[in-house]
Amino acid sequence: MTLPRISVASLGGTISSTAADAASGVVPRLDAAQLVASVPGLANVAQIHAEPLFQLPSASIGFAECRAALAWAQAQVDAGAAGVVLTQGTDSIEETAFLLDLYWQRAQPLVVTGAMRSPQAAGADGPANLLAAVLAAGEAASRKRGVLVVMNDTVHAARWVRKRHTLAVQAFESPETGPVGAIIEGGVRFLHPAAPRLAPLPAPVREARVALLQAGMGDDGTLALLARDAGYDGIVIAGFGSGHVPYAYAQHIDDIAARIPVVIASRTGAGPTTRATYGYVGSEIDLIHRGAFMAGWLEARKARLLLWALLAGGADKPAIADALHRYGAAPLPG
Ligand code: ASP
Repeated sequence: MTLPRISVASLGGTISSTAADAASGVVPRLDAAQLVASVPGLANVAQIHAEPLFQLPSASIGFAECRAALAWAQAQVDAGAAGVVLTQGTDSIEETAFLLDLYWQRAQPLVVTGAMRSPQAAGADGPANLLAAVLAAGEAASRKRGVLVVMNDTVHAARWVRKRHTLAVQAFESPETGPVGAIIEGGVRFLHPAAPRLAPLPAPVREARVALLQAGMGDDGTLALLARDAGYDGIVIAGFGSGHVPYAYAQHIDDIAARIPVVIASRTGAGPTTRATYGYVGSEIDLIHRGAFMAGWLEARKARLLLWALLAGGADKPAIADALHRYGAAPLPG
């Protein structure tokens, strides 16, 4: 049997992090080839091509690094890879995977993984996660599912996955949908059909900065005004409940939304924003009248990345409204 060709790139994070001595903390040091070499049995499931891309803590992976990783992954597929795996820090996987997913149009799986425990820790999970990610990347059933996140033998869609624990090995969840699949006896078992893929977003043609603000008790919206005045190109507000802000905050939304796009998401952690339920000042109905867009099912961080991609791609207001509507909707009809 010919083994699938899988390309693996390392971007840093805990999975790559070791300590120079007992007194210092771990920092990213190991590259893709070293990670691959640490996984027993990997050579029996795939032909691996390994390359180092970055050696970063994941909070420092930015838009430029994501674009470089995307270009690398596309080139690997064009050169014949059956699937691609990126290893990186877990702190930002829910963001990088989603951003990559907005642009990934190949049928071949692009799988992101990491580790909650560093390689020198007892019970390090990196090797098991890398093996599971390679298995998922090589499976025909993983094709046409966009970007997947594989952690702790669970498979998540980039669209829904979140890091929900700072330290636990089982840190990743998709609160709305559950995982799309699981790694069982050396293969992927999918629990949900593939969601229809949305049309790709245009490639970035300009710089864009999008602020993410969380509304809180007594918040009068001063930070949103400051963000607008500081030249941000868009603002996402993680609002109360299904998308609300206090009276004093709401008064500023007309002004801000007249200049730059304002997207209202929820700070609750699960569930969509509403459109037509509450009618008080600061409610979703009021904020929509004032010119804000609602994020729908998009979690605030993912809404920020979508708005960034739209602004960087040169989208105008109607295109932003349309994309938020499509990406914010539940993916299956009904
Ligand atoms: N701080 C690390 C990072 O995101 C955490 C991890 O990799 O799990 O780079």
